[in-house]
Amino acid sequence: MTVQQKVPPQERLLFATTARSIADSTAQIVDTSRQALDHLGATTCPQSASFDNVLLPLVNVRNAIATKAGILGFYKEGSSDASLRDESVKSKLLFDNFNNEIAMQEDLFLLIDAVFKKNETLDQESERLLRREHRTFHDNGLGLPAADRVRFSEIKTRINKATSEFRRNMNEENEHVDFTTQDLVGVPAHVLDSTLLDDSTDDEKIFRLTFQPNHFYPTMRYAQLDETRKRYMIGYETRCADNVSLFQEIVLLRDEAARMLGYASHAKWRTRSLMSGTPDNVMAFLNDLKSQLQPGLQNDLDALKKLKSDHLAAQGMEFDGKFYVWDISFYHRLLLEAQYKIDQKRIAEYFPIQTVVPAMLQNFQQLSGLVFQEVSRDISDLTDLNQTWHDDVQVFDVWDSDEIGGGFLGFLYLDLYSREGKYGSAANFNLQPGYIKPDGSRHYPSTALICNFNKPTSDKPGLLNHSDVVLLFHELGHGIHDLVAQTKYACFHGTACADDFCEAPSQMLERWCWEEPQLKAMSCHYSTLTPEYRDHWKVHGCTADTVPPSKIPTELVQALVRSENVNASLTNMRALWRSAFDMKVHSPTDRRSLEDMDITREFNKLQREIVGLDEPADEEWGHGHAHFSHLIGGYDAGYYGYLYSRVFASDMFSAAFSKDPMSREVGLRYRRTVLEKGGSVDEMALLREFLGREPNSRAFHEELGIRS
Ligand SMILES: [Zn+2]
Repeated sequence: MTVQQKVPPQERLLFATTARSIADSTAQIVDTSRQALDHLGATTCPQSASFDNVLLPLVNVRNAIATKAGILGFYKEGSSDASLRDESVKSKLLFDNFNNEIAMQEDLFLLIDAVFKKNETLDQESERLLRREHRTFHDNGLGLPAADRVRFSEIKTRINKATSEFRRNMNEENEHVDFTTQDLVGVPAHVLDSTLLDDSTDDEKIFRLTFQPNHFYPTMRYAQLDETRKRYMIGYETRCADNVSLFQEIVLLRDEAARMLGYASHAKWRTRSLMSGTPDNVMAFLNDLKSQLQPGLQNDLDALKKLKSDHLAAQGMEFDGKFYVWDISFYHRLLLEAQYKIDQKRIAEYFPIQTVVPAMLQNFQQLSGLVFQEVSRDISDLTDLNQTWHDDVQVFDVWDSDEIGGGFLGFLYLDLYSREGKYGSAANFNLQPGYIKPDGSRHYPSTALICNFNKPTSDKPGLLNHSDVVLLFHELGHGIHDLVAQTKYACFHGTACADDFCEAPSQMLERWCWEEPQLKAMSCHYSTLTPEYRDHWKVHGCTADTVPPSKIPTELVQALVRSENVNASLTNMRALWRSAFDMKVHSPTDRRSLEDMDITREFNKLQREIVGLDEPADEEWGHGHAHFSHLIGGYDAGYYGYLYSRVFASDMFSAAFSKDPMSREVGLRYRRTVLEKGGSVDEMALLREFLGREPNSRAFHEELGIRS
């Protein structure tokens, strides 16, 4: 019996095929929004201003912009067409500047200020909206004397432009390093196959490796030669050179804007609306964690150095006592193989992408009461073709399961495979938020996962490393947050919560990738899928002498689970270093010290001091901040949030899910209490309600082996 496909109550998105249509849509929504706001300013006066006649019309404009801007700005991440990407960059810039323009409109500010002072009785989300809008207008310069507003507006416009250039340089980066066959000893065949230059001769094969994740990470894990990993890492760290000056310009402009508003620093301005509250609290958190991680870090580095020494000795080479950043992935893998019997390649054979993705969705169906209904498309039909931005993309209608009402939730897009011009990392993008429309009905969200895995073919599988599976869970976690949120206003939808909380739901979902039953359920040896894959495995498989079982063997999965926290202190200390750098450039003691700061040296110096890795003698050997996209893309003075959220993720998992990770009852309670609220409720209140107590760092410390 075939299950009848349900029809969503909202049309699926249609994607643009021409740059012109992106430009026209952008211009049209900016025009109509401007008219609506002019009308609001002209027809309402502060004396009669109320939430209903000021905030609701403003919200309608904001919701309308959010409905369009997400998609129009998305082509730059996903489209294969350079002209669409170019226009999408322009569209994003226009919307950013238009948002600044709105926030500088004094007539609107006076109306909002009047409502703010009126103290109307409002529901919780509306009150939060009012406070947020009031703060937005105030912090965009309307609290400034008129003479300063021009400069303030210039700063904001220039930040938007520089940010756009920075991101574009990253997206369009196509730098590479060439290697010979000898250089790449140990590197997996799929990397070699996909990077061999056409004009190579059999005598002199040349492989051109880009910095895309599907080239970079396997090579850093497996390339035997130090020199290869060093050359590749230095290439990686010195890419996007134009962004060095843009980065400096952006942090200086942010600093100037914050000081104009009366804040001591950009970090002070940013953290005022985050859970941490102040840069001092952030630094206290980071410093405490740093001292707690220190003994573990020393142990991790000692073990890795010992391994490096043994490894080099086995080849008759001497160890000079140095451990570099390009050694981490390689020796981490060797450590897992030697001490935990983890064979990543063998594990990957059990996680072909074709079966992992449905199994992962099945996991969420069971846990959270969701139903993912894949949309079959006929790409010879133009309408069907335009339902995505690329043929690789899968579309799902997402529903509540029948037992909890069977209501519609939204649309999920999966764009999993690597291709040129696409956003180079893994991320979740909200294409359209959910919200309540003026007629009281719901606008449903659309959300997209972008990854860069190798695309399987009929005779070659796309195998995921365990870390890829964790990454998929993480990004889908953001997607689920986006799909199940039930806020009134678009600005609070889904992951639009405090930046130092929004990673927690995704980080918690990573835990499911470390549970034996879930790993077993998700696994399926690729050789069992098709005769062609069986042939592939006979030639390339790790254990070609024994026919593998369909499910991952117990001893392999148990070894994997045991290895979860290997080098956790090192990993977390590296995140701490990046967080400390973020705070350093965004909370200088004074303007002068930021102007005088050599940011490249500071980035490398902090790595040396905090993580304790050795570096090349040249202090400017790399400029990793030039592609530290988080600090340009919304995590400025907020990168610490990755560590801060981990505390909550560990606490929630350990308190509610550790006994039975697949409990539907707990899964639904979590969905209702935390995920559905998005950013519409104070995050600490959500945590208290879900946990039934104040959150604490005990579970996080336990995971890291720290005794509290
Ligand atoms: Zn994330």
